[in-house]
Amino acid sequence: MQKNETMLTPVYRYVFSVLDESAVTEDRIRQMRVFKSHLRKSACILTETKEIESILDCTIELLERFHESEEIGQDFWNNKLKALQCDSCQSCYHCKKCRIYYWKELGEVLLQKTNDEKKSKTYFPVRSLPDEIQRHLEPSASISTLYLSRIKRDSIGVFRNKFLMLKGMSSSTPAMLNNIFDTNDYVGGGFYLNWNGYGVAIDPGYSFVHNLHHYGLSVLDVQAVIITHEHIDHNNDMRLLDDLHFSAARFDEEKEKTHIIDWYMDEISYAMASVLRTERSGFKEETCRLHRVMAGDSAELKTNELDVTFFPTKHIPKDGTYNYKEHTFGCSFCCKNKVQKKIITYTSDTKYFNGLLEAVKEADMVIANISGIYEDDYMQIKEKSTHLGYGGCYNLIRKCSEKYGRYPRFYFLSEFWNGKSDIRYDIVKCLKRELEEQGITDIRIIPSETGMLYDIEDGSIQCSQCGQYTDEVIVKRPTGLNEKIEVLCRECYF
Ligand SMILES: [Zn+2]
Ligand SMILES: [Zn+2]
Ligand SMILES: [Zn+2]
Repeated sequence: MQKNETMLTPVYRYVFSVLDESAVTEDRIRQMRVFKSHLRKSACILTETKEIESILDCTIELLERFHESEEIGQDFWNNKLKALQCDSCQSCYHCKKCRIYYWKELGEVLLQKTNDEKKSKTYFPVRSLPDEIQRHLEPSASISTLYLSRIKRDSIGVFRNKFLMLKGMSSSTPAMLNNIFDTNDYVGGGFYLNWNGYGVAIDPGYSFVHNLHHYGLSVLDVQAVIITHEHIDHNNDMRLLDDLHFSAARFDEEKEKTHIIDWYMDEISYAMASVLRTERSGFKEETCRLHRVMAGDSAELKTNELDVTFFPTKHIPKDGTYNYKEHTFGCSFCCKNKVQKKIITYTSDTKYFNGLLEAVKEADMVIANISGIYEDDYMQIKEKSTHLGYGGCYNLIRKCSEKYGRYPRFYFLSEFWNGKSDIRYDIVKCLKRELEEQGITDIRIIPSETGMLYDIEDGSIQCSQCGQYTDEVIVKRPTGLNEKIEVLCRECYF
């Protein structure tokens, strides 16, 4: 139905389409009677049945009187109009008012009366829209419907119990590169975890939604969003994700319940979302719940099989001090089922500090955001103050494996800052070599790339070429500038 329509509108339309065709004849009157009996049988009209019947009765009576003589018709019309005016609240489209409009419109068609209601603000569109306008309003033309039908592929099958890297580069680097090379190939992003059908979008930064779609997922595959801090490589796409989700959830008529997203956010992203909610410009209560995460406190994301805990990070220095703002955090995902429990820890952006070891040591796989490297960072003369950098990654991996009996065997390094050149392959290679020199040989380190899939259950990775999951992947050196990094199984590599 269009705006301002009621269940009566289609009936009105039908009446006028009949009357528009020719003069009032017995045939036309019979046609109206048949129409009325059809409506009575029709199951789709429920609450309005009585009202529609009474309107059709009056209409048929008017046509009969009019058919007798115009004068008799005129009298009947006048009396009925008076009765309607007494009955009417005079102020809305949806009750007697629209009947008055209708009645006057009938008067115009049959008795050449002018319908002054037409000029008033309460103009009620009784006549059909022209076809060429109407077709744009049909559900079949709606992009929301097309979007929904496209995203309703059974995508989650492939992603069940997987961790999907959706992150390219950090900050505004991809936007710069896109400008330099006049392309849209460079992306930022985030991560996506699916455990037993429960999907978590992690740090939906610049390009996140684009990447999500590109790899065959949609906003309806997301049950929760985690935002660890307000930098654009972590929350840029929160608005797009929310808005798209609102449309998709709203138009998804097949779902029995509205699809809701739970948002777990750092204080600043939470404040941004809250302002938008207050201003009624996003994050509507119908489709999302907002949670403010205070790192280290008990605000937890818990489902039957997934526990997420949040730990503090040191990422954004307070002005002029060596202290850090307290709202930023990393998180650990404990994925459970009947037979096993796997832990994935995401450091997010943080400098290295010993407290990180606690957060990371239990993990089976760690995603560590390295960012850029500097000479004194690589030489381990001076630690980076806002990110792990080379030295921070080295310390994290080395100390964890030296200090604890159980330590992560799998690291994905992410959020490389490629602002100077593509450092990913060489950095990981050097890091592995250095750790091996220290006797740490049982750890796998992979530079993360969009589209890489990690199997949470058995800790294997998908080969970029054949798609098989394997324990032993070999990282292939990218040849062009910022070309995609591939991880290959032995068969594909040799
Ligand atoms: Zn950051
Ligand atoms: Zn970042
Ligand atoms: Zn392969």
